[in-house]
Amino acid sequence: MSLYRDEGVVLRTQKLGEADRIVTLLTRRHGRVRAVAKGVRRTTSRFGSRLEPFMHVDVQLATGRTLDVVTQVETLGPFGPSICADYPRYTAGTAMLETAERLAAEEREPVLQHYLLLVGALRALADGSRDPGLVLDAYLLRGLAVAGFAPSFTDCARCGTGGPHRFFSVQSGGMMCQACRPSGTVAPAAGTVDLLAALLTGDWTAAEASAPRERREASGIVAAFLQWHLERGLRSLRLVERA
Ligand SMILES: [Zn+2]
Repeated sequence: MSLYRDEGVVLRTQKLGEADRIVTLLTRRHGRVRAVAKGVRRTTSRFGSRLEPFMHVDVQLATGRTLDVVTQVETLGPFGPSICADYPRYTAGTAMLETAERLAAEEREPVLQHYLLLVGALRALADGSRDPGLVLDAYLLRGLAVAGFAPSFTDCARCGTGGPHRFFSVQSGGMMCQACRPSGTVAPAAGTVDLLAALLTGDWTAAEASAPRERREASGIVAAFLQWHLERGLRSLRLVERA
């Protein structure tokens, strides 16, 4: 049995037996890891509350035959309680954890950029400094970008002609010029496109200056873009997980 240490975010927990849990973590150095936390559902557990979703922890794990076993936990970022206490933060955070698990497709494959993105987004949700909906959309866009699916919000996604362009195509990966425009494109408001570009680049001053109508339209576009990539890029993964 060998021990290793890492830091990670708790993505999900599942009951196991009478008192144990299987904890899914996105770790800094080992990517997505599933591990057994023994006795954490007992009230006397030393680290049960540290292994709840949204918590940012430093963990020591023992390599097991099938699943690793959590042997020590220290809290780095106690994000759970303040995210769970506020419904908009909780729904945004839940969508972030689910997306993180799906974008970290392979177990034990490090995804450092995505890990850092998730920790930063959860910290912003927990401290309440930014609108939860904007934090979520920025995380989703940037998460897709680091997974290799960066949308283009200025140049034409097909021919590269400099923008701004009027039309957006989920399938083509962003804004499109008049000549490349396929059928089924939408024409979002210019302010919405500016907001999407600001969220992707992390320009919070511009993002927070947006109007509610632009935020709603941007959220719809981000959701469609995410769904399109998850369904295509990760279909094989879902089949593996169900089997
Ligand atoms: Zn074009």
